[in-house]
Amino acid sequence: MTSAETTNKLEIKRNDVVGRYGVAACDLEPGELILTETPFAYGPKIDSPPVCLGCYAYIDCSNLCSTCGWPVCDVDCEVVPAHKDAECAVFANAKVRFTPVENSYEPCLQYECITPLRVLLATERDKDRWENQVKCMETHTEERRARKRKSGISIL
Ligand SMILES: [Zn+2]
Ligand SMILES: [Zn+2]
Repeated sequence: MTSAETTNKLEIKRNDVVGRYGVAACDLEPGELILTETPFAYGPKIDSPPVCLGCYAYIDCSNLCSTCGWPVCDVDCEVVPAHKDAECAVFANAKVRFTPVENSYEPCLQYECITPLRVLLATERDKDRWENQVKCMETHTEERRARKRKSGISIL
C-alpha cells in the first residue's frame, strides 16, 4: 500500500518557480475525489486550546488519560493509536503531566509539543516513508522569510 494515491484526473508537475504542483487532467465535478493520502503524522494545531488527544474535540480538561494524565474525552479516546502509541507512552515514562488551565478556551502552550513529537516518533517508526516521501518535501522557508521582510507580517 502506498501513502498517496492519485487518480488519472490529476497530474503532478514541477517547475523552478513554485516547485511541485497538481493540475487537473480533465474537467472535474465539484467534490470529485482526485487524491487520497495517509498523513505522516497529525495532531493539535498551533495555538490550539485544550483538545482531546484522541479525537481533537474541544474539551474542558475535566477528564484525563489514566496512563499519561493529559486531557481526553473518555477511555475510548485514551486508546486511539494516534495518542496511545505516541505521546501517551512518552509522557507516562517521563512523568510529563498536563498542568490544569484556568481557561480552556484560550490557546494552551502545553499542546505545542504534541504534533512535533508525533512527527519525530513517526520518523523513527517509518524511516522509509520519512526518507522517500516526507524529507524531500519543500519547506518554502526562504520564500516565507522573504515575504516577512517585504511586508512586516510574520507568516509561519
Ligand atoms: Zn475525544
Ligand atoms: Zn495518555
